[in-house]
Parts: sequence; C-alpha cells; structure tokens
Amino acid sequence: MSADQETAGRAGAGDDAAYERALKAYEGRSAATAGVGKDPVNEAMIRHWCEAMGDAHPAYRGPDAVAPPTMLQAWTMGGLSGHQGRSGAHDELFALLDGAGYTAVVATDCEQEYLRPLRPGDVITFDAVIESVSARKTTKLGTGHFVTTRMDVRANGEAAGTHRFRILKYAPAARRGPEGRGADGPSRGKRPRPVVNRDNAGFWDGVADRRLLIQRCGGCGALRFPWLPGCNGCGAAEWDTVEAGGAGTVYSYVVMHHPPFPAFAAPGGPAGAAGPYAVGLIELAEGVRMVSNVVGVLYDRVRIGMPVRLEFLRVDAELVLPVFRAEADPDAAAGAAGAGGEG
Ligand code: ZN
Repeated sequence: MSADQETAGRAGAGDDAAYERALKAYEGRSAATAGVGKDPVNEAMIRHWCEAMGDAHPAYRGPDAVAPPTMLQAWTMGGLSGHQGRSGAHDELFALLDGAGYTAVVATDCEQEYLRPLRPGDVITFDAVIESVSARKTTKLGTGHFVTTRMDVRANGEAAGTHRFRILKYAPAARRGPEGRGADGPSRGKRPRPVVNRDNAGFWDGVADRRLLIQRCGGCGALRFPWLPGCNGCGAAEWDTVEAGGAGTVYSYVVMHHPPFPAFAAPGGPAGAAGPYAVGLIELAEGVRMVSNVVGVLYDRVRIGMPVRLEFLRVDAELVLPVFRAEADPDAAAGAAGAGGEG
C-alpha cells in the first residue's frame, strides 16, 4: 500500500487530491493473471447460449461450428467457486471506494474486440488489468468513479479477443421524498431516458420524427426489432428501414405492482400516482414485437390479442415515446364477438 493509499485510508474522502492519487495508482495493476477457463470452448455451452439468445445462425452448429463472438466473456467466468489467479487489486480498489462512501455499483457498459474465432476444443486463458479509474463524476445515479477493467482472452495461447467492462462505484443520490423529488430536484420523478447508442440512434431519430422504424436486413430481407448491428438470420451487416404502419395487437403483457415507481403512473390514474401499470409486448402488423405501454385503457383491462394502434406520447420536454392505444374497450368487444375472456 502506497503512502497515498494509507493517507486515503485514514482520511477517507476528506483529502481529495490524495484520494484521487490513491485511486489512480490502481491503473495498470493486474486484476487476474494467467486465469484459465473452467471449460474449453464446447458445443454444449454454445447450444445453451444460442437457445437463450434465440440465435439460430448456422455458423454456430455442425462440425465446423464456431462460438458466437459475444460469448467471449462466458468462457472466462469463474462461477460460484471463483478463479485462481485473482490478484486482489480489484478487491482493494473496491474497499477503498466503499470506504469513501461509494458503496453502490452499477455496470455501465462493455466493449469487446474479436481477433480470432473460437472453436470447440480451444483452451481459454486470460489476464485482466484495471485499465482506468476515472476522476470523480456526478451522474443521475449519484457521484462516484468509473472503473474500467480490460480482459485479454487467448485461445490455445493465441490472442482471441479483448473484453472491456466498465462499472460505476457511487454514493447513491438522496432518496426520493413523498413528493417524488430528490435532493437534485424534480428530475428524479421523470421517466428514465432511453440509452441511445450508435446501434439504435436511427430508431430514436425516427421517433423524434414521429415515425416507428423497423430494421430490414439487406441480405435476407428479414425485419428485426429491437435494432441490432447485424442480422441474426444471415449475418449480413447491411440494412435499411421500413416504417411501421401503426397497427398491432397485444401479444402478451405483465402488470407491475412493485416496486411503486412514480414515473410510471398508471394510465388513467391520478397524475403522479405510483399505482400498478401494464407493460405490453406488442406485435406489430409487420410481424416484429416491441415492449411498450398500452394507453387508453386501465392496466387491468389490457388483454392478449387486444388491437392497438401506435401513437407518440410526449412524456416531457425532452422525451417522446412510441406507445399503443387500445382501439376499443376489451370487454365490450369480447361480449359483442361472443368470445370468452377472463370473466
Ligand atoms: Zn438477414
């Protein structure tokens, strides 16, 4: 432990400069050395992954199968019993952050780079290094430090890829009071913002123009939603878009009761009331499905098969969301058609 770390340990966050230096001293330190994957790359794990992801790409089956590239980290996971080779630097860094009050953690993003395909039988080894510890940042969640860890993955001793994983260790912002307002003002009660990135920016550009855009594969023509950089069916990276006509049906739904969340007041309920609300899985007439809100009907009147129509809801000054309006009262419609319902 360095002098700065000792100072920081004694003084907590009181001595900011020494504390920041103590955190920076972890940059470049090893988090794991010569880790060994618990299993070689194998067909069973590939099959389970593909089933869970709904990825039927033929490259991941048969005698010449490769592993889905995004499985990179899966081959390095230690499971409940953990790994040999962890250095302890990561635990020390986390203890230093916990000690200064940054006790909460949230994973923020990961980046992967693929250098060679992984095939069944490949033996996985890896090293991990603490690549960076940010200066103190204030986010909507609270104030803290971003920690980026880079893992270099090898297959049979050859470089196979890198996996960068970033987390935020933070002191949670003050909890909301009964008015739905926290220490940082009324934004605490707002709907969460969508995460816009280079893969889905076109979708949100469309929403801003009041258009719901579905990606269409340039290879096989398959429509896909949500937006992805490539096609799960044929692997093609080219795509264009088609605009949804706006018709759809409720394919499935759940009703959220807990935890109460003022930003998701029940449609039709008193403004700001944190009552139950329905989350719908809407099947568009074009065939793709999306998760959205069903509006124009109380949460307990949403039904599977209910026809809905797209509209755009201005939630607040910065946020417009596609939502789906129930086309008719479900029980009245069911009665008229003589169809059975829930009662
Ligand atoms: Zn395709």
